[in-house]
Amino acid sequence: MAVDNGKDKAPATRLAEAGRRADWTRPPGARAGIVNPPVWHASTILFDNLAALDAGIAAPDAGLYYGRRGTPTSWALETALTELEPGAAGTCLYPSGVAAIAAALLSLLKAGDHLLVTDSAYEPTRSFADRTLRDLGIETTYYDPLIGAGIAALVRPNTRAILLESPGSLSFDVQDVPAIVAVARARDIVTVLDNTWATPLLFPAIGHGIDMSVQALTKYVAGHSDVMMGAVTTTAAHYPKLRSASYRLGYCVGPDDAYLTLRGLRTLGVRLAQQGKSALKIAHWLAAHPAVERVLHPALPGCPGHDLWARDFTGASGLFGFVLKQGKRSQTAALIDDLDHFGIGFSWGGFESLILPSNVAPIRTATQFEAPGPLLRLSIGLEDPDDLIADLAAGLERYQAQF
Ligand SMILES: *Cc1c(COP(=O)(O)O)cnc(C)c1O
Repeated sequence: MAVDNGKDKAPATRLAEAGRRADWTRPPGARAGIVNPPVWHASTILFDNLAALDAGIAAPDAGLYYGRRGTPTSWALETALTELEPGAAGTCLYPSGVAAIAAALLSLLKAGDHLLVTDSAYEPTRSFADRTLRDLGIETTYYDPLIGAGIAALVRPNTRAILLESPGSLSFDVQDVPAIVAVARARDIVTVLDNTWATPLLFPAIGHGIDMSVQALTKYVAGHSDVMMGAVTTTAAHYPKLRSASYRLGYCVGPDDAYLTLRGLRTLGVRLAQQGKSALKIAHWLAAHPAVERVLHPALPGCPGHDLWARDFTGASGLFGFVLKQGKRSQTAALIDDLDHFGIGFSWGGFESLILPSNVAPIRTATQFEAPGPLLRLSIGLEDPDDLIADLAAGLERYQAQF
């Protein structure tokens, strides 16, 4: 759904109001309406007569047409996400964040094209480029996330797109988005940013010159660890092509999931603020712990790209990592197995805290990731941060007892 309003309000107000169009929240002619656009389940849409059917065929995105083109439930979520990004013209929804990344790239690239991807990219993004895109005749070069304007040296005559992720969701290096955007704009290269860590609240990507802002809504926007969903929000220049490519690829989302995601979006601001605050407190505590070699959190000086984060972002979310001074991954069982308040699992951005051992070095190809001991990633939830600190303190004590 394309929209062009709502950008004059502050983000918190947009979060509360976006997507609640009267024609989606009240039956025609009713004297009152409901707050949330309801869950519209549909495959078949019934037209009143042949003239209405022909009008639909002539303008299939102008209203209800066929289930795959969405219903007011998905349009409300698309509209709300678009309204959160100043400068954006439309949003398309996907059944996962990975599907959103795949659709954005497939809408832009064809055989013979060249793609630049950050070396800090989410691993499934890399495997999509290395396998699916390669098989389609599209070549990928990985770049140092700290490259900035130096990315110009990697551009080839057939470079069509740059895929950024800032900060990287395992290593947390922050990129110089404006510098990379300037290089891209001067050469007609399209920039796609995986903005899942910051969301448009902490980094309004389109406003910073990015052409396509991708989110795994699975993480912070849905926020409750029970939905898979992705989105690409983009400008007027790119929306029609993205929309038609996504339709041809057959992407659509279930209305129950769209409803849950929109419900999550309403409280995104307060959750992010609280989770970010707790995470920063825990990050500072970890940075002072004798077992910890370094903390990978963009708001901490020393994190690669910290100055860029301070310049460009309005805050930090609740996902960060820390590197231990010694030991092997197998030994982290002593730390994580008996934690009371951290689940062990993939994904992040939910209301509950998670811990995950990760290994960046084998994923990288353009740069090296050095770490003397294991890397652990924390997704800080809405629990009391002091309970989380006490839990981690006990875990780190168990870990150190092994040496
Ligand atoms: C999880 C994640 C994705 C993919 O989202 P799914 O909904 O799990 O497919 C994309 N990018 C980043 C940075 C992620 O963490």
